[in-house]
Amino acid sequence: MTTLPILELTAAPPAGPRGDAGVAHVARGSAEPAAGARHRAALPPRHLADLDLIGRRAAVAALGEREFRAAQLSHHYFGRLVRDPAQMTDVPVAARDRLTEGLLPNLLTPVRKLACDGGATRKTLWRLHDGSLVESVLMGYPDRITICVSSQAGCGMGCPFCATGQAGLTRNLSTAEIVDQVVWFAGVAASGAVPHSPARLSHVVFMGMGEPLANYPRVMQAIRRLIAPPPEGLGLSQRHITVSTVGLVPAMQRLADEDLALTLALSLHAPDDDLRDELVPVNQRWKVADVLQAAWDYAARTGRRVSIEYALIRDVNDQAWRADLLGRLLTGRLAHVNLIPLNPTPGSRWDASPKPVEREFVRRLRAAGVPTTVRDTRGREIDGACGQLAASEIEPGSTTGLASSRGRGRKAEQ
Ligand code: SAH
Ligand code: SF4
Repeated sequence: MTTLPILELTAAPPAGPRGDAGVAHVARGSAEPAAGARHRAALPPRHLADLDLIGRRAAVAALGEREFRAAQLSHHYFGRLVRDPAQMTDVPVAARDRLTEGLLPNLLTPVRKLACDGGATRKTLWRLHDGSLVESVLMGYPDRITICVSSQAGCGMGCPFCATGQAGLTRNLSTAEIVDQVVWFAGVAASGAVPHSPARLSHVVFMGMGEPLANYPRVMQAIRRLIAPPPEGLGLSQRHITVSTVGLVPAMQRLADEDLALTLALSLHAPDDDLRDELVPVNQRWKVADVLQAAWDYAARTGRRVSIEYALIRDVNDQAWRADLLGRLLTGRLAHVNLIPLNPTPGSRWDASPKPVEREFVRRLRAAGVPTTVRDTRGREIDGACGQLAASEIEPGSTTGLASSRGRGRKAEQ
């Protein structure tokens, strides 16, 4: 680690078309890109992580190579975490280039790499092939390494306290664009670069940019790659994958039908419809009672405890009566509450609750018998919350950009 100021690692212009032609905007609160916009969203090149092993064999054959090369290539990517053709010495040189060109295109270009906590927290802002920006965060702990991935460029759900929600949805990420964020950081973990942590990435949370259940098919395919044993996938445990949702009820029901032991996190943020309609606009469609019922159905089907996410916002949702109401809704359920001190977004009128108010909120929930924790706020100085780094990059002229005081203490990762 160095104490260099923020380092612009890649100053190159975006590789693909930028601007309106390649950007799909949707109305806030809508789960899918608008029909016309969907056609304009530029798809990334095909990557082996978009395909299962059977599909990869067919793709390899179509490139004029023997089918067993699919397993070799997959082993390099998922098993050895290698993407450089020069390191694939069991593949003849001519085939190597053809195969990597056809099945291992570069999907993510790092634009900025930031680190804090002595390198235990790392954040990368990626530029995608069409110029869209997304981010991923790695958090190293003594017993595990977790990566927080993005599932969409932007988000169409419009939650007013969230930086990602302010910019609207650009597009869904492809399966491989999601998987590649994880594989990339699995390589960082394997290099031993994360201090005081195991050298293996073990946990994935879909808590970066985007609403994962609004990009359902690609997120599910990505999860299937992450849990498939090598060489088909990364071999992660289902239980170590958390899908966080704003509460898209039909998609939550579909998730329960998948027969997977994933952890579900529900971003509730208010126990009453009046306030939730404002904080989480999709609540105007699926009410608190509906999303909680979907969560309990998920818990019953999977046996998995649901995590109720609640960003504590000063004088907005942190009152004692709301803690009591939340406690009544959750008592006796297979759930725990994860309180998140609000990370204020640029220009927002909202702030985190004072610590005594937070403590009282926790006390009341626990008194109601609801297991409650307060989320670790590490990485705040590298714009750790959802979409904040990308938001500051998208608005370089804003006073909250990377050169501003919010950047204090950030370090460029080497
Ligand atoms: N779209 C999904 C997953 C991504 S957001 C969802 O909303 O659940 C991941 C979590 O970060 C959510 O619980 C979200 O409410 C929370 N979050 C977003 N902006 C935040 C902020 N400024 N401060 C604290 N938490 C925030
Ligand atoms: Fe989208 Fe989640 Fe942000 Fe809401 S909190 S705008 S659902 S990313």
